[in-house]
Amino acid sequence: MFDDPSDLALATLAVRTGHRRTHEGEHSEAIFATSSYVFESAADAAAIFAGDKPGNIYSRFTNPTVRTFEERLAALEGGECCVATASGMAAILATCIALLKSGDHILASQSLFGSTTVLFNKYLTKFGIKISYLPGSDEQAWQQGVKPNTRILFIETPSNPQVEVIDIAAMADLAHAHDAVLVVDNCFCTPVLQRPLDLGADIVIHSATKYLDGQGRCIGGAVVGDKKLVGEEVLGVIRTAGPSMSPFNAWVFLKGLETLDLRMKAHSSSAHTLAIWLESHPAIERVYYPSLKSHPQHALAMRQQKAGGGIVTFDVKGGQPAAWSVMDATQILSITANLGDTKSTITHPASTTHGRLTPEERSQANISDGMLRISVGLEDIEDIKRDLSRGLDRL
Ligand SMILES: *Cc1c(COP(=O)(O)O)cnc(C)c1O
Repeated sequence: MFDDPSDLALATLAVRTGHRRTHEGEHSEAIFATSSYVFESAADAAAIFAGDKPGNIYSRFTNPTVRTFEERLAALEGGECCVATASGMAAILATCIALLKSGDHILASQSLFGSTTVLFNKYLTKFGIKISYLPGSDEQAWQQGVKPNTRILFIETPSNPQVEVIDIAAMADLAHAHDAVLVVDNCFCTPVLQRPLDLGADIVIHSATKYLDGQGRCIGGAVVGDKKLVGEEVLGVIRTAGPSMSPFNAWVFLKGLETLDLRMKAHSSSAHTLAIWLESHPAIERVYYPSLKSHPQHALAMRQQKAGGGIVTFDVKGGQPAAWSVMDATQILSITANLGDTKSTITHPASTTHGRLTPEERSQANISDGMLRISVGLEDIEDIKRDLSRGLDRL
């Protein structure tokens, strides 16, 4: 392919990496819609099954379209290996199954995607895995929170929904000082805005459902890291347990990656404009956005990320009734839990994405009843402001 891919910029890698053109000469990547693969002979089958010869066997194990997506995302994140999964949650589950055994401990940041918290608290604990949570910005608490059995430090930065920023390099140092692994959910920034592996993280998790797709079409996920942890351990879980990515979804994500660089810059620029506008609105108590000076970790965010990203979260005055009335007055924004779409979306985390948490868990994660999260899409930002004004101006 390329003499030296390390010479290429991210936008180029996002368009070009991983495509092995077939004898048909196709320009766009082919979708290999096949569950199994045919061998040349009985001996060939035996050699491939034994691992003595490379080759595809079955699409739960490998698939050429999926592999193209994996190689492309690995290149963007600067990782040796990527394993694609059926969803972002499958990526997190597979990573935990691969790395943990009964009695091990996960130290996680407090503000996590709702299903991640449920996976940890309700399901992993059934198998003897211990979990504790700490505020991502309290480094001293983390120093004291690591235990001899801590195997994973798990963080999401910026977090969902209130875009809390955590120092990846400091967390990586802490993990490595205790023989643990730093796992970063890089869903909100994508490699366009932040590359956790460059900062010392061991594993990057993606929900491909969000920005990697970028147009709200497919569910998928990925784990990126080195050959041992990801290429052997995580792949082993996926190919055995089965939450692998479908070739059709991989193809959609490939097309998404091709425009990722452009989209992330556009989402960030519109979100920044919207955040400044919201901050000056009298009906709003507080705005959370990394590139605002008012953000508690503004300096860290601007050091660690290339831009603020597409998610703006804010508290409206008047709690849940006020928040719901702003949502219900919109005519353009979609009321939906997805994010990272070209279409702007608005969500009330306390009653949806974080609704399954107990009130204590919610307050620990700082999810207020008046909180709204907007995933700023690619519509004209003046139209989005007008759409929000409909409800906000009435409060
Ligand atoms: C959506 C999301 C996930 C889960 O991904 P799915 O593809 O929905 O399974 C994990 N982490 C974050 C930050 C997310 O936004």
